[in-house]
Amino acid sequence: MAQMARDLKAEGHQVISLSLGEPDFDTPLHIKEAAAEAITNGYTKYTPVPGLKEYREAIQEKFKRDNNLDFDLDQIMVSNGAKQCIANVCMVLCNPGDEVIILTPYWVTYGEIVKMTGAKPVYLKAGIKDNYKISTAQLKEAISEKTKLIIFSSPCNPTGSVYDKQELEEMAAVINQYPNTMIVSDEIYEYINFKSKHVSIGSFDNVKDQTITINGMSKGFAMTGWRLGYMGAPKWVTQACIKLQGQFTSGATSFGQKAAAHALNSSLQHTYDMVEAFKNRRDLMIRLLNDIPGVKINEPDGAFYVFPDVSEFFGKSNGTVTIKDADDFAEILLRDAHVAVVTGKAFGADECIRISYAASEEDLTEACARMKKCLSAFS
Ligand code: PLP
Repeated sequence: MAQMARDLKAEGHQVISLSLGEPDFDTPLHIKEAAAEAITNGYTKYTPVPGLKEYREAIQEKFKRDNNLDFDLDQIMVSNGAKQCIANVCMVLCNPGDEVIILTPYWVTYGEIVKMTGAKPVYLKAGIKDNYKISTAQLKEAISEKTKLIIFSSPCNPTGSVYDKQELEEMAAVINQYPNTMIVSDEIYEYINFKSKHVSIGSFDNVKDQTITINGMSKGFAMTGWRLGYMGAPKWVTQACIKLQGQFTSGATSFGQKAAAHALNSSLQHTYDMVEAFKNRRDLMIRLLNDIPGVKINEPDGAFYVFPDVSEFFGKSNGTVTIKDADDFAEILLRDAHVAVVTGKAFGADECIRISYAASEEDLTEACARMKKCLSAFS
C-alpha cells in the first residue's frame, strides 16, 4: 500500500495520507531549544542504561502528578521509544508456552513481539457495538495460570477507545486473582483524551505490584522521531529490562533526554492546544463519516484515529471490482479516491479500517468527500 501511494504520487496524483500514527504538529520550540542547549553544553556522550537521573526524576514526578503512581528511581527506566519498553518487558517476562492476552483491536506491534519470545498471543476481541472495549466476562473466560501478560493501550491505537475508571477497576479485580499475571498498560496516548482525566490501572492498590506502566514522548509532545519512551514497573522487572537493554542498545540519546526532562517539567499548554485541535478534527470526522452510507462509526474518546466498521461494503461491486474485505476496501480507496488509510486486519479487526486524523481539516474534508464519491458507486 505504501508503495502504491508512492507510485500514485509519482504519477502526479494528490494522495491524501490518513495512515500515519504520528501527530502532524511539530515538537514545541522550547523542547527543541532545550535539546540544542544540551548539545552546546556537551551532552553528547553515552548515558546510563536506565536513563539520565534528571530525566528519571522528571518521570517520577510526572507519574505522581498525572497518574497517582509512586515509583522509586530504580523502578523507572528510559528506552528508545515506548516500543522498546514493550519489547524489553515481553522479552524478560515471556517464555515459550506462556500465554499473553492482547485486547483487540490492538496496536500492531504487540502480537509480533510476543511471538518473537515464543509465547502465544491470545486475542480478546471487541467490536464497534462494544465501543471496541472488552468486557470483564471475556477477560474472566480467557485468563488462566498460563497468562503471563495482559497488554492493552488506553486511549487505544487503533480505536481511540478509553477504558474508564470503573472498567479498569473491574479488570483489576479479575487480574488480582492471578498474582503471576502482569499487566502492560500502554499509556502513550494518555494526554490525547477528550472525555475524562486519564486513569492508570497501576494506581489501584490490588494490581500495583503486577503493573508495568509504559509511556513516552512521541504522541503527547509530538516527539516521534526523538525515540524516547519510559516505564515504571516493579523493581525486579525494571532491573531485568536494564540488563537486557544494556546489551541491545544501551541508554537513550543524551541531549534528547535533557530536552524530554525539560518537557515534562514545563507547562503542558502546547499539548493541550494540540489536543483541542484533535478534538475538533474528531468531531469533524464523525460528522463527515456519518454522512457516508454504509460506513459505521462510534465516537472515539481519545488518540487521533477513527475506526469505522466497513463490513457493509463486503461483497459489493462498482461494476469493475468487488470489495471482499478490509484490505480490498483500503486498496480501492487508495487507487480510486487517492486516500490512504490502514486496513483493520493489521489491528486484528478484519471488518474495519483505521483513519488517522493527524492531518489538516482541509485534507480531512477533501478525503471524506472523495471517499463518499468513490463508495457511492458500490452496490
Ligand atoms: N504504543 C502505541 C499504542 C502506539 O500507537 C505507538 C506508536 O504508534 C507506540 C506504542 C510506540 O511509541 P514510541 O514512538 O514511543 O515507540
